[in-house]
Amino acid sequence: MAGVTADERGVELADLSVAYGEVTALADVSLSVEPGEFFTLVGPSGCGKTTTLRAIAGFEAPTSGSVRIGDVDVTGLAPEERDVGIVFQHYALFPHLDVRENVAYGLRFRDPPDGASTAERVDELLGLVDLEGLGDRSPETLSGGQQQRVALARALAPGPEVLLLDEPLSALDARLRQRLRVTVREVQRELGITTIYVTHDQAEALAISDRVAVLRAGRVEQVGTPEAIYRDPASRFVAAFVGDNNLLDATVDSLAPPTATVDGTAIRFSTTPDVGLGDNVTLAIRPEHLTLGDGDVTLEATVTTVEFLGDAYRLHCDWQGHELLVTADERADVGASVVLGADPSDVQVLADGTTGGYK
Ligand code: ATP
Repeated sequence: MAGVTADERGVELADLSVAYGEVTALADVSLSVEPGEFFTLVGPSGCGKTTTLRAIAGFEAPTSGSVRIGDVDVTGLAPEERDVGIVFQHYALFPHLDVRENVAYGLRFRDPPDGASTAERVDELLGLVDLEGLGDRSPETLSGGQQQRVALARALAPGPEVLLLDEPLSALDARLRQRLRVTVREVQRELGITTIYVTHDQAEALAISDRVAVLRAGRVEQVGTPEAIYRDPASRFVAAFVGDNNLLDATVDSLAPPTATVDGTAIRFSTTPDVGLGDNVTLAIRPEHLTLGDGDVTLEATVTTVEFLGDAYRLHCDWQGHELLVTADERADVGASVVLGADPSDVQVLADGTTGGYK
């Protein structure tokens, strides 16, 4: 596979801002994507993911800031002068061209790398995405997943330094999405190509990435490994957006031992981030960290709904008017009184509380 290996170049965004008329789509975004890294931009609709990708590809001119690929400042370069391959949500294959011709179309601006012929290069790419034997087919005779693999092969054909993927799986059904994301990851790993992936699906972002940037309203909220983003969210926004979570408005009422009060109930936590007595904070407790039975933190709640998920049950419980989600091994009866336990070390304290006051 030496022929398809890209040179590894990173991508550096420095204070990048993009505006559409009055709308600020990106505000001072700085990100550093390592060579060979699989880096994902995730966030709710309208947060600026696609705009970031378009600015890297050269389709949007930033109002300020710069884009570097490797050691080259590409901010002023046209898209075709940048060494990037792009796959969009909608496959955008040419219906009048067969699969081979669609892949070869990726080579219209550039010869295949390493002196390969176009035919050799197309064969190589079809092998890479597991589509050998389908080269003569018309795109409309292919499944959605196969079409997206053709689009991936086309984007990779010229051997770009950077691969940009904009929601490439979101038009596919859930099961296919899960399968194809593994294919995308394997191809990326095999090539070692620096990849920037856009998705609004936080579970996909966690599953596939080396690192994730969570965007919010045109700004970077947090960058980290999937584990760091999930286990140590930097803000209430990230805690709420990534994975299921139970968020409670609380007020810090003691630092030794650290406790915060939610509607008159004191809840212990064990980490003491940068919070002080009387601060309004958010307590975040993941559903898998609430157990039925005793714990150092105990909350008396009532089961309101039970969902069977296959590998676990998801209980919806009412605790003092708050809905708490609990991942449980066993079914519980709707209406049952339960004691929910948590370990203080699993109670995350986020400094951005929204309501409440020290009394
Ligand atoms: P989605 O997940 O819905 O695709 P996104 O995170 O990719 O969203 P962007 O498409 O980057 O978000 O949009 C960022 C902001 O810029 C939004 O407020 C959007 O309405 C605005 N925007 C995007 N493109 C244009 C445009 N061509 N003209 C005006 N505003 C735009």
